[in-house]
Amino acid sequence: MLRFAPSPNGELHLGHARSALFTWRMARDLDGVALLRIEDIDTARTRRVFIDGIFEDLSWLGLTWPEPVVFQSQRFEAYRAAAAELEMMGLLYPCFATRAEIEAAADPRRKDPDGAPIYPGLWRGKSGAEIARRKAGGVPYALRLDMQRALAYAGRMLDSAPLTFVELGEEGMPRTITADPARWGDVVLVRKDTPTSYHLAVVVDDASQGVTHVTRGADLFAATDLHRLLQVLLGLPEPMYAHHGLVTDADGRKLSKSARDTSLKSLREAGATPADIRRMAGLT
Ligand code: GLU
Repeated sequence: MLRFAPSPNGELHLGHARSALFTWRMARDLDGVALLRIEDIDTARTRRVFIDGIFEDLSWLGLTWPEPVVFQSQRFEAYRAAAAELEMMGLLYPCFATRAEIEAAADPRRKDPDGAPIYPGLWRGKSGAEIARRKAGGVPYALRLDMQRALAYAGRMLDSAPLTFVELGEEGMPRTITADPARWGDVVLVRKDTPTSYHLAVVVDDASQGVTHVTRGADLFAATDLHRLLQVLLGLPEPMYAHHGLVTDADGRKLSKSARDTSLKSLREAGATPADIRRMAGLT
């Protein structure tokens, strides 16, 4: 079971086409099924027109998927349950800090793999009374993973064996990678504005949808370290991973949502065919 899991906060571009075509090709080679999942946890940035665009672009490329399509915005209860489980294990804590407070307190030399400052632990180990006072005042908060505790917990579950995952890469050659989730620090698993985060939702859904092969761009390679840790903590099955190279622009930069000139819709309107897209996305 494989999946393509776009976020509907922009038009699909050539980078998404590469991911989708890579996923459907691997599904075909493995005699498996490729699912479409809409990752719309960011309800403020989700637009109906982008959801419609995803269906239209993928159909135009000739891809098909089983119904019903899972929308993450319909799955908040499942994410709440997973967060509650981690909370019961004593691995989450509320954090009321603002972005500005975190930036002011963070060590400017320590960044996570996304380039964000490593959380300086402002609310780790705070007293129950202080937390209750803020909660009673209605101050919004995130839930963060206590990374050191989580690593110790996972270490016990793994009998001190290293945390690893199997990476197939674009060529499908299996390699065992040692995961290093500590480089994310005390990461947010439940955001202030939505009852989950990308990391928690993706791990919960890949497991509940029976995904055996996670295919996605190399920009998410480092996130896999964290995903493996969450899978161990939540007792979820271990998928294999195939991270593919990214489509870059003429300057060698990763394409972004704002790269309108490479959106599939504008390429189609300019006369490109699905075969042209396959070629431009580097999959023939
Ligand atoms: N929704 C994520 C994105 O659009 C991809 C998630 C994944 O493949 O794990 O970047």
